[in-house]
Amino acid sequence: MKEKQPPSQYDCVIAGGGIAGLVTALEILQQSKQRVCIVDRDTPERLGGLARWAFGGMALSGTKEQQRAKIADAPALLLNDWHNVAQFETDDSWPRAWAKEYAQHNHQKVYCWLKQLGLGFLPAVNWVERGLFNQGNSVPRYHVLWGTGWKLVGTIIQKLAPYVTSGHLRYLHQHKVIAPCIKDQSICAVNVVDEQTMQSFDIATNCLVIACGGINGAEEQVKKNWYKPWGKPPEKLLNGANPISDGKLHQQVAAIGGNITHADKMWNYAAGIAHPQAEFEGHGLSLIPSKSALWLDHHGRRIGPLPLVTGFDTRYLCEQVAKQSQPWTWQLMNWKIAKKELAVSGSQHNPSIRNKDMLGLLRETLFGNERLIRQLADESVDVIVAESLEVLVDKMNQTTEQDFIKWAELEHTITQYDNQRHRGIAFENDEQVRRIRHARQWKVDKLRTCKSQPIIDSKAGPLIAIKLQLISRKSLGGIQTNLQSQVLSKDSQPINGLYSVGEAAGFGGGGASGLRSLEGTFLSGCILTARNAAQSILTTQRIIK
Ligand SMILES: Cc1cc2nc3c(=O)[nH]c(=O)nc-3n(C[C@H](O)[C@H](O)[C@H](O)COP(=O)(O)OP(=O)(O)OC[C@H]3O[C@@H](n4cnc5c(N)ncnc54)[C@H](O)[C@@H]3O)c2cc1C
Repeated sequence: MKEKQPPSQYDCVIAGGGIAGLVTALEILQQSKQRVCIVDRDTPERLGGLARWAFGGMALSGTKEQQRAKIADAPALLLNDWHNVAQFETDDSWPRAWAKEYAQHNHQKVYCWLKQLGLGFLPAVNWVERGLFNQGNSVPRYHVLWGTGWKLVGTIIQKLAPYVTSGHLRYLHQHKVIAPCIKDQSICAVNVVDEQTMQSFDIATNCLVIACGGINGAEEQVKKNWYKPWGKPPEKLLNGANPISDGKLHQQVAAIGGNITHADKMWNYAAGIAHPQAEFEGHGLSLIPSKSALWLDHHGRRIGPLPLVTGFDTRYLCEQVAKQSQPWTWQLMNWKIAKKELAVSGSQHNPSIRNKDMLGLLRETLFGNERLIRQLADESVDVIVAESLEVLVDKMNQTTEQDFIKWAELEHTITQYDNQRHRGIAFENDEQVRRIRHARQWKVDKLRTCKSQPIIDSKAGPLIAIKLQLISRKSLGGIQTNLQSQVLSKDSQPINGLYSVGEAAGFGGGGASGLRSLEGTFLSGCILTARNAAQSILTTQRIIK
């Protein structure tokens, strides 16, 4: 029976129906008779939050897929790599503790758990974030969920369905959690508003889980918390997260004494384009840029001195792009390069993985993703295609208020680069070429990276220029938590009955990633923090009779 009245009390209220909130609910419901209410701002079709659009890449170690590919990985190696990229500060004790928790338990608590839900991974393990000045992932450990985040969300919602029928779980869609209520230093209720009727009410509960996502969907939050050593935030940047997660609940948690940390640590991307089917203002798509393309500034000059190449250090790419005097950069390539190397992150633009179409995926891997490049060329104002460099430059200049790019100068830049590729291995002396060569040593990257491909090549055309902007995505900081996902006060004391999971908690401890992620630590971090919260709730919370 459908309940019409606002609920008056629940054993546990979860603020946010993203992957972190859903996993928390599933874990509690599978092991108890508690009554759980998930309050989510979004519409019923969008239950699952960002994970619905996620690609489904996860950093996991000691897996069957790694063993089959003869990759020797272990928790200690993962932890060592994590520390290298995180560069924790001296007082980052909770982020360090969560990094260790992830390294030690990702296999059991994430990988095995997902398998037990009937989910699987592609056999090819990717090697991302290899590190630039510091060692990143020492070995390939980025596993792609077969079916993407879309399948992950669908599976968990399906597992939760019987509890809705039995009355143990209730969803309140299009409702916003305004604030936790506290009495005698313990959670006693939560204030909620129905965003359609604007009716406000309290739900009595001794247990509230904050699972409202990060702050990176709110442009003003991104700008306000911009990493100070990088100077002023860019005037314009795209939004690759969810504007519904506005950061207000973080402020309410702070108001009752919760500690918010590392809000200036973010995992943004350097290669965003405007979303052709934008669902909100500034909505962007994050490209996985091609390694063989030239990455240029607004004048069409190669950014350097170290050329920008993806797959090594995403934060470095963002830093360099943020430093530019104009808010856009260019990637220049040809059709052949784009077909083999260019991709868009997320479930939406990877239908063969999302729909588990192995034949389609093999075709795209072997012959190139013609479909995607045609789609981008047809739909995106930021993807420019031309048969000749002269026409391309004209079209690039038409997108800006000044003719920033001079044809002759750009032609010279390209020729310098291409000539290296024509001369053969012995005479190549270019950092980008060296890194392409290194990347191709790993068989998965070999399939996805061109061998010695010049830009100007009559057999590889037409030419493509993509106008890129910074795109905001994930908050690495957030609400500080201990290993039980209990929210901590500034003096590190848990607030009775208050938990935080997923991106809201900076994937654990209010900043488990430090400065950087090894990539693919987000969905898995949501699952880990959610499962730890649920175990703690099951053992410590009193059930309201
Ligand atoms: C295109 C894309 C690709 C990605 N690919 C990957 C990937 O391959 N690997 C990876 O690890 N990560 C990936 N991510 C990141 C990952 O999806 C997110 O970090 C993760 O899903 C966050 O989950 P969450 O539950 O913590 O928060 P969210 O998914 O943001 O969910 C938060 C929920 O809370 C609700 N909410 C917000 N405020 C309130 C409030 N006050 N009251 C009630 N409800 C509220 C929102 O409606 C939302 O449903 C990707 C993200 C995107 C967008």
